This record gives sequence, C-alpha cells and structure tokens, in this order.
Amino acid sequence: MFFNDLSLYEYHLSKPVKQILNVGWLDGGKEFTKGDSPSVFCQKLASVIIGGAGFDANFNRIRGVHPCDLCGDREVVIFSNGEEELLGMSEILIPNSEGDGYFASPSMVYHYITVHSYLPPEPFMNAVLNVDLSKEYLADDIFDALLASR
Ligand SMILES: [Zn+2]
Repeated sequence: MFFNDLSLYEYHLSKPVKQILNVGWLDGGKEFTKGDSPSVFCQKLASVIIGGAGFDANFNRIRGVHPCDLCGDREVVIFSNGEEELLGMSEILIPNSEGDGYFASPSMVYHYITVHSYLPPEPFMNAVLNVDLSKEYLADDIFDALLASR
C-alpha cells in the first residue's frame, strides 16, 4: 500500500483521521527520499516498535505477515533490549513532538530505513527521538479514540 509521506491517514477508512499523518508507506515502483538516518534514531525506532511494560505503539495487527514492498523479504526480525519482533504484522502510531497529532507507519518502516536507505521526514525522526518509553501508551486505544472522535 502506497501513501505519500505526511498525507492524511485514511487506510481502510471511509474518511481520513486528521490527527494522523502517513510516513513510510513505500512501494517498489515509486521513488522515495534516500539518505542515512542517524544510528541513535534507528536504535530508538527499534525500541519504540518493540515497546515495553505499559508502552505499545503497535495497532491494526494482522494475522499474517505483509512482506517488504521493496525486496519481498517476509522474515524481517528486529532486536532491542533482549526482545525481538517480526516486522510486517502491524502499523505503529507515534505521537508527534508538538503533542497534537500522530504519525502512522507500517512496522516495516524500520527495515525500509536500515536496509533500503529510506529517509523519513524530519518531524517523524524528532517524534521517535522524543518518545518516552516509560509512559503508559497503548496505540490501539488511542487509535480507537481518534476514530470515534471523527
Ligand atoms: Zn526489503
């Protein structure tokens, strides 16, 4: 599924959610911004995807695995703090730095960045770096509340 970076989120929906912007919905046939992301950002993104005790950024989980849209890899596993997670089974919802909205990405975005040199927009990088993993955060509940408030 392809969406332009920073477009309004409307995946599977009849009407977009104006508090959520798309990031990292790449497609093999389309151009995307390339560059090297700082390793501190990549490490933090892995931690955010894996989550913690009361922190879970994953939502819209699917039963199977959606393979990488660029190379077809379907066994992309990430590791952080002794935990591991298979990518391609969910989306992640990241609060923006301003505290007034969110970014939604396929969890495969980590693989796009680290393997395919996809360079995400700076506001997304800042948002990931600003995530407080010690905070209570359940993306599923937040997403449901945003849908209900439309
Ligand atoms: Zn790939």
